[in-house]
Amino acid sequence: MFQDIPQNVDIQYDPEPAGDSDSVLCFDGRSVLVRIDDNKAVLPQMCELDHKVRNVFIFKADGTRYFLCLEKASAKGFGFEPLDRIRYVEADDEQYAVVTGYHYYCFHCENRFCSVCGARLEHSPQKRCMVCTDCKNEVYPKLSPAVILGIIDEKNDSILLTRYAGREYKKYALVAGFVEMGESAEAAAKREAMEETGLEITDLEYFATQPWGFAQNLLIGYFAKVSGSREIKMDASELSEAVWVKREDVPAQPGGISLTGEMMWAFKSSQR
Ligand SMILES: [Zn+2]
Repeated sequence: MFQDIPQNVDIQYDPEPAGDSDSVLCFDGRSVLVRIDDNKAVLPQMCELDHKVRNVFIFKADGTRYFLCLEKASAKGFGFEPLDRIRYVEADDEQYAVVTGYHYYCFHCENRFCSVCGARLEHSPQKRCMVCTDCKNEVYPKLSPAVILGIIDEKNDSILLTRYAGREYKKYALVAGFVEMGESAEAAAKREAMEETGLEITDLEYFATQPWGFAQNLLIGYFAKVSGSREIKMDASELSEAVWVKREDVPAQPGGISLTGEMMWAFKSSQR
């Protein structure tokens, strides 16, 4: 998964201003300023931008400091590429930086004014949050927990794969959904299995978590066994397909960047 690529990620807020050689993430909607060399995303350094920009520290990985550009910018030799393109470049520190930086960019786009008193928010000089210039209300980046579920039918050596309805992502996925207020991740897993596929599950087993900045999520992966009937009653408003797939037929490879891909591979390669 992409968060495992950097050897050392330091998410601690660093108030030291950006230097010329620090890397910078400039977004424009769901596009990011990069150069793609040999299917690798290369980010501009601060000194390569066409002008000095307002910026804020994001995080540090393997000795490189990454900053978010807070205004429109360009750089010679770089262009805006859609995030969906970055999803398929070689997994490395820069790819992880783009996804995590996008999470932070969304936070800045969505939090310009205080929701308590309406005054302007500005970035705290000490920590990763916005502070109201009037009532001092503090606003932190949104993080939405969601569960991903590998539902296994042991008797038929199969796993339940789905395709989302009405989304750009057309490949096979697993049952997934947001954890609701007042609910544990395990309860959310059971509810989502029932809502999306009509299946009862048991023996939930934690697999891994993954930050997923594309949608400001923290993904929490579980495997579970189907209990009772394996008959699927698909929720057509959420899914376009829900099928049992035999272990050897699961379309997965090792080394993917997503938790879903990792879980599908774990099943196919008999780690689960
Ligand atoms: Zn306020």
